[in-house]
Amino acid sequence: MCSIRKLLSDLGNLLGTTYLWHGGPARGQAANFSAWWADFRTPCYNVEGRHGRPGRLRSLQDFEEERTLSAAAKRHWRHLYEEIVATNVCSGCAGCVVVCPRDILDYVDGKPVQTHEESGPYDCIFGQKGCTVCADACPRLDPESAAIEQMLFGRERLPEEYAGIWRRIVLARSTQDRVRSAAQDGGVVTQLLLWGLRKGLIDGALVAGPSGRGKWYPEPLLARTEEDILRAGGSWYTYVANPLAIKQAVKEGLERLAFVGTGCQTILSRKLFVRNLKRYSKRIAITIGLLCSETFDFDAFMEGKIRQELGIGLERIKKINIKGRVILYLDNGDVREIPLKEARPTAREQCHYCQDFAAEHADISLGGIGLDGWTLTVIRTPLGQQWFDEAVAEGVLETRPAEDDPKSVELLMKLAKKQRARPTRPEQEREGAALIPH
Ligand SMILES: Cc1cc2nc3c(=O)[nH]c(=O)nc-3n(C[C@H](O)[C@H](O)[C@H](O)COP(=O)(O)OP(=O)(O)OC[C@H]3O[C@@H](n4cnc5c(N)ncnc54)[C@H](O)[C@@H]3O)c2cc1C
Ligand code: SF4
Ligand code: SF4
Repeated sequence: MCSIRKLLSDLGNLLGTTYLWHGGPARGQAANFSAWWADFRTPCYNVEGRHGRPGRLRSLQDFEEERTLSAAAKRHWRHLYEEIVATNVCSGCAGCVVVCPRDILDYVDGKPVQTHEESGPYDCIFGQKGCTVCADACPRLDPESAAIEQMLFGRERLPEEYAGIWRRIVLARSTQDRVRSAAQDGGVVTQLLLWGLRKGLIDGALVAGPSGRGKWYPEPLLARTEEDILRAGGSWYTYVANPLAIKQAVKEGLERLAFVGTGCQTILSRKLFVRNLKRYSKRIAITIGLLCSETFDFDAFMEGKIRQELGIGLERIKKINIKGRVILYLDNGDVREIPLKEARPTAREQCHYCQDFAAEHADISLGGIGLDGWTLTVIRTPLGQQWFDEAVAEGVLETRPAEDDPKSVELLMKLAKKQRARPTRPEQEREGAALIPH
């Protein structure tokens, strides 16, 4: 059996797929062909990846067993609402909104809202009858980090691995001017997306992009073309629920997507897989993470701090960057700065329950800490490594060793360690829940 597993694993590797087929009948199923076939068709994550040895494969059955306890609890919208939304723990990732099979969750002001009249906003009659899909998807209700790490890395993160598990850290940037000028730091994210699209590895990307209201009013964007990807370059430091764009991708029948997002979103990409929400998970070809310590509330930061307090119209801002302070580049060449300390009170409360600075469950995570024009690149999985190495080999990315700038790596570890110490729930959570009418 082992050799069949190996053969299938090698075949998958040859085909360049990340998700492989289960390599044979599992525990006592050999006599039952249909059970074996169902098991055979269950996707697994190849721990070692295309360029490595055939790895130890974990079937979704393994994960199923690990989550028996929480599944038995049959949690649904009511629990999600009470424990996560009403307590302001909800990151706003929109995972629950995307997966709801009844399409009764709306996304309003960065939060999910239940719209089914018969159920009322705090409960769900479909949940009472056994639907658990929104609760299954939510990374904040149950992050399942252990199962995700086993799936991606074949082991769990050690407590001292504050920035998650990684293979290599390197400084990188795009070799193309048009990419660097559209991007936030070295343009590595944009360049990888362009490269993946050109190679046919993806047919779209879930990103953030400017909306019809203007550049500083971003929205989730399904980027299908080079122009879309370039338009989406740069960082918006207010929250954008990129995962929402996957609904459009499903509608349009796109099948290989790059999922770009902050840590609270990249973990969602993995939960969709671990919880076997295949309609979405099967379309995610690569997960690209952005380092993140917090996002700002749009009204408080963009309108309150920048427009009203500083008197700068948003239409005058060409770029915003954060390098220990908030730097605003204006259309007339002026540069204005806000000390981070002054901007912090406008950060979203939800971010303060987030322990993941380094988007630890992405295939590749990227940040700009301390660097000018380069992206700090944390390569985590074999897939991330493969994309990165091939893009470098084809000359669209150039690199420098991380040792060139040891302070950036030190800062990465320092910020990641600091963020780990955050609580994941407010202390008054139970009191908050008690306020919800039933
Ligand atoms: C909210 C936020 C906070 C961040 N905080 C830090 C930090 O504390 N330290 C650090 O080192 N780096 C942080 N970053 C990452 C940094 O700003 C750059 O995104 C990163 O260095 C990659 O640069 P690049 O030039 O390679 O990316 P680009 O080539 O410019 O591509 C960036 C990609 O991010 C997407 N994107 C932009 N804004 C958002 C958003 N709000 N939500 C989801 N996707 C978005 C874009 O659509 C684009 O595809 C943060 C990014 C964001 C979005
Ligand atoms: S964290 Fe995401 S999945 Fe969970 S309730 Fe909030 S929007 Fe929904
Ligand atoms: S700090 Fe955490 S919760 Fe907030 S946007 Fe960043 S990754 Fe998401």
